[in-house]
Amino acid sequence: MSALELSRVSKVYGSGAGEVHALRGVDLIVEPGELVAVMGPSGSGKSTLLTIAGSLEEPSRGEVTVGGLPLSRLSRNEKAALRRRAIGYVFQDFNLLAGLTAAENVSLPLELDGAPIRTARAAALAALERLDLAGDADRFPDDLSGGERQRVAIARAVVGQRHLLLADEPSGALDSVNGESVMRLVRETCQAGVAGVVVTHDAQLASWADRVVFLRDGRIVDQTARPDGPESLLETGPAR
Ligand code: ADP
Repeated sequence: MSALELSRVSKVYGSGAGEVHALRGVDLIVEPGELVAVMGPSGSGKSTLLTIAGSLEEPSRGEVTVGGLPLSRLSRNEKAALRRRAIGYVFQDFNLLAGLTAAENVSLPLELDGAPIRTARAAALAALERLDLAGDADRFPDDLSGGERQRVAIARAVVGQRHLLLADEPSGALDSVNGESVMRLVRETCQAGVAGVVVTHDAQLASWADRVVFLRDGRIVDQTARPDGPESLLETGPAR
């Protein structure tokens, strides 16, 4: 089952003369463990694609399926639960809550979902440790560097049992060394079975992805080939 599937997804903002076609018939499938980078000029629909994939907005036409669940068939509450449990979102400006420690920021989605505080904290500490932040659990965002804050944001996006990681320019506010390490972390997270979609302007960072999708005027105009999976070995056996 695909982690994310967009089929014939279109998004129109406004109406009449002010109509903007942000997405036009986008088809995209992301498998568990796969990392897809989305590139394209400003205004080409990249952020719209992420917000629709993350169920934060509804498409005007087409269907989005997350982990086999068609979003159009879910109620508002079911979608909110899916976002808390299955979808991690890394925003450009991190969106950490200044009054909460790193561990509290990371455990928040689990607590909002009803997990007991102890369970949520244990999961948060595990996520922070995976991101090399074990020693920073009780520090506040203002006391962390930009790179550390970004890693906390990623920890929050992958805490618990997430299947889908969506990141909008996760390295946008970082220098190139930190930007590179963020992509490495996203890559590692995906290798653990999470499907990732990352918007980036930086071709160097996009090269960390399994596949790069290019958007222009709301359409996918090009994409790099998906690397051959193990099944390709079966197809290319000796001729019989
Ligand atoms: P990108 O992320 O590639 O810069 P966006 O997805 O933000 O592109 O925007 C695609 C198009 O949709 C742009 O023309 C933008 O102005 C328009 N757009 C995005 N969000 C809205 C909105 N909430 N209301 C109206 N127009 C929007």
